[in-house]
Amino acid sequence: MKAIEVNGTRAYQFESFDAQAVDHAIFTRLGGVSTGIWSSLNLAGTVGDDKDAVARNHDIMFEAFGKKLSTRFDVWQVHGTQVHFAEEPRPPEQKHKPGDAIFTNKTGISLTMRFADCIPLLFHDPVQKVIGIVHAGWLGTALQISKVAVEAIGNRYGSKPEDLVVGIGPAICGDCYEVGEDVVRRFEKYWKKDYQAFFKQKNGSLYLDISAANAFILRQIGVRQIEQSHMCTAENLDEWYSYRKEKGLTGRFGVVFALKDGIKNESK
Ligand SMILES: [Zn+2]
Repeated sequence: MKAIEVNGTRAYQFESFDAQAVDHAIFTRLGGVSTGIWSSLNLAGTVGDDKDAVARNHDIMFEAFGKKLSTRFDVWQVHGTQVHFAEEPRPPEQKHKPGDAIFTNKTGISLTMRFADCIPLLFHDPVQKVIGIVHAGWLGTALQISKVAVEAIGNRYGSKPEDLVVGIGPAICGDCYEVGEDVVRRFEKYWKKDYQAFFKQKNGSLYLDISAANAFILRQIGVRQIEQSHMCTAENLDEWYSYRKEKGLTGRFGVVFALKDGIKNESK
């Protein structure tokens, strides 16, 4: 990934994505106005931070991203497998719908999600001109949300796995993400034996590599172009929020993704 700095913010971009076709950015926690445990570019309004500061941070992020805040489409992230297809930005007066995967084939929409340890997976189909963001923690990974999302865009837009470019962003790594036996049992339920490779024992504790697990699912269903950031949120608190490392007392960093204006779908 490469870093870009605008107005005191710092964001990362995948090098695999075609900058002629899409705009995307994974914003670090730098450059916002929140203070204390939320310092400073916290995008979540439900973690105890000052509401005005969070609103200002959304403005700052969109200004740095070069899009209007009115293009935003976001959902209420609940660790499920609900996929949403955005036809227009979310009207400010409309409540967030619950979901963990958002896609669009429309320009003028900035897909937006918030993270702190869970993985941001960014999808671009340059053939059908579709983009999307998926939010996957241990439960979404156990439920194979990556696979659910790829099947959903196949049905909706005709996207083929082999055409997809997928970026796997900063998340808590397999050396830091300690999990309990209950997590293994959920994987046993939804995966075949394959899941065992993504758990490891260390000093009597169990650790899960959600980035590798999602990459595995994607390869299994035919996705060939995958870029992994290999950045660990828990080990880099100067740049990222980490729910685990900061024991829940932290903010959420923002991911934004938009189709470039001027590239229209031929089918429209
Ligand atoms: Zn780590």
